[in-house]
Amino acid sequence: MSEMPRVVVLAGGVGGSKFVLGVRGALRARGWDEDTTSVLTVVVNTGDDLWLSGVRLQPDVDSVTYALAGVNDSGRGWGRQGDTERVNHELQAWGSGWPWFTLGDLDLGTHLARTGWLRDGLTPTAVLERMSHRWDLGARLLPMTDSEVDTMVELEDGGRLHFQEWWTRHRATLAPARFHNPGIDRATPAPGVLDAIAAADAVLVAPSNPVVSIGPILAVPGMREALAAASARVVGVSPIIGGKVVRGMADVCLTAIGVETSAAAVAAHYGSRDAGGLLDAWLIAQEDEAAAAEVAGLGIRPLVTPLWMTDAAHSTALAETALGAAGV
Ligand code: GDP
Ligand code: CA
Repeated sequence: MSEMPRVVVLAGGVGGSKFVLGVRGALRARGWDEDTTSVLTVVVNTGDDLWLSGVRLQPDVDSVTYALAGVNDSGRGWGRQGDTERVNHELQAWGSGWPWFTLGDLDLGTHLARTGWLRDGLTPTAVLERMSHRWDLGARLLPMTDSEVDTMVELEDGGRLHFQEWWTRHRATLAPARFHNPGIDRATPAPGVLDAIAAADAVLVAPSNPVVSIGPILAVPGMREALAAASARVVGVSPIIGGKVVRGMADVCLTAIGVETSAAAVAAHYGSRDAGGLLDAWLIAQEDEAAAAEVAGLGIRPLVTPLWMTDAAHSTALAETALGAAGV
């Protein structure tokens, strides 16, 4: 068997984890019998993280972990399969936490374990490494940074709230003026991130929310420079299909930063690597074929391919196309 490519994926939660599953599937389908953990690194958004009821939540990290472990609740889209809410009811009876934010019992086990290790002095990177051993994930997961840089939403009416409150409680209905990650200017990429990018044969940008999932990853100082300097090609997958977000409310986030909800506009937002931006190539859906010329005009190679990750086979096929676009 020839050398396996070393792959780095930048990912958020649900869209990110479906794509990462596909990348692992594509690498495994190449007939490699070794563990893909040594070649597949996932840099996960930690902007969604928060403290609640005394525990540290990492929603995107957990989505990717649970999906790779095969223990995620794919119907609901978050949390653990078959979870119960006994502790959640008790927390609500105490008036602890947020009444509109459910913490499943199994999920709380994760948060307690993580918080305990953080309290013991482990870094988020070390905690995630430890948590990765429980299951055969087939990937090395790295937080984008070890610093706490939770995403805040500034509203047009002057209000300010944590991203999770805006997203989950208000379903993104309060008009946002700006998203930002306090403290990110002083943050650095987590240990291992820059080395993984430098050593990669392919860098893939998952079809995650460009503003609040990929945005915070790119905002960590040093990240953009590392991606610009990478010898690997950087290939992105559009989260927009037929001018619409597949699920979620990413369109509200895009509108807030002045980007149209279209495959071409998101490509323009990321920019061409030749012109100091992120992308060498951009995968767009057949529904958006008309955008190919515009993407090419940006100096980004467009590739028209099915983007619906409806099951593992579709995710794997999409990931294989992305690897091909990266030339590996
Ligand atoms: P979150 O952190 O859980 O919100 O998830 P992500 O940021 O990783 O992904 C959210 C984005 O995934 C949304 O903007 C969706 O448009 C996109 N998405 C979800 N399912 C699919 C899919 O099957 N194909 C593509 N191309 N994008 C998807
Ligand atoms: Ca997320």
